[in-house]
Amino acid sequence: MPGGGLLPRRVMVAALAGVRLGLSRGLAHLGEVYEHSLFFQNLTAFLGQRPSVVAPSSPRPLLAPGPHTLALENVSFTYPGAQKPVFEDLNLTLRAGETTALVGVNGAGKTTLVKLLTRLYDPQGGRVTLDGVDVREFDPAAYRGQLGVVLQDFTRYQLSARENVALGRIGEADEETRLQGAARQASALELIEGLPEGWNTLLGRQFHVRGQDLSGGQWQRVALARALYRDAPILLRDEPTAALDAETEAELFGRYRDLTRGRTTLLITHRFNTVRMADRIVVLEHGQVIEDGTHAELLRRGGRYAEMYALQAEGYRSAEEQAPQMPEALG
Ligand code: ADP
Repeated sequence: MPGGGLLPRRVMVAALAGVRLGLSRGLAHLGEVYEHSLFFQNLTAFLGQRPSVVAPSSPRPLLAPGPHTLALENVSFTYPGAQKPVFEDLNLTLRAGETTALVGVNGAGKTTLVKLLTRLYDPQGGRVTLDGVDVREFDPAAYRGQLGVVLQDFTRYQLSARENVALGRIGEADEETRLQGAARQASALELIEGLPEGWNTLLGRQFHVRGQDLSGGQWQRVALARALYRDAPILLRDEPTAALDAETEAELFGRYRDLTRGRTTLLITHRFNTVRMADRIVVLEHGQVIEDGTHAELLRRGGRYAEMYALQAEGYRSAEEQAPQMPEALG
């Protein structure tokens, strides 16, 4: 995230998320340019929203670099205006340098968990901590600077490939090397270098006739490259069910260790091929952690994970050309 500035740019996204459905497509599109504080100011004024996430008057300095532990401690959370809580007394620790895969059926609370970790919302009860410190003690923008995030509704910026990846950090020292590194890790390098004007190719056809459109999976590689370019010590990936094509999945699968080395990673994916490689798998159901362990441990346990895995494997056998995926009914 471009540093400093008015803190709650993402709060705008939260505000937007709530009203977005009811808005015209044109206005909803503003959500895609939330990095620009100008829009943030206009929008909060327009919507009459007050940020729900506030910065402390004297924020605590961020901690030393290195893998961090991120934890939800006795977290309770209810969406504004909703009757039912999503979480009541939830405890979950993402251990330093580990990859935790989060699985569970639709509505289990996976995306909401990411929203709390990114401070789109703060919990009403309990706390989110970074190395034991309540994240509300940090400046929100500085805290988010520690996170590389690929959200389910990742943004397709109608800008050049370079701007899509470097977003707000154009012209930084060693930009070329870092762009290439991030794109390579995200399996997007060949794709971008193969575009008609390489890194300077305009992506998307919404605003420019000569723009180059990409497939869902290709856009997702670009979104992942963007998250990696920030070189943040914490990576949160909430994958959309359908966007990743089998080819992209296979490529990312091959680079899995490379992608997660030294980072604390949370991965939400419907692809069990990837899930099984995680250091730890957490099964979420009705906002509660019902199982927690490695792939082998959870299979031995013969519980919910084993059941989901068996169903997926069955689906795989009956459609071998498709990469394994959580069955729709479960995903
Ligand atoms: P998952 O990502 O596991 O599918 P979600 O975190 O999206 O689950 O949803 C968890 C629960 O919160 C669901 O019951 C869902 O209906 C509810 N929910 C999600 N977003 C909102 C929202 N903006 N306002 C009110 N309720 C919501």
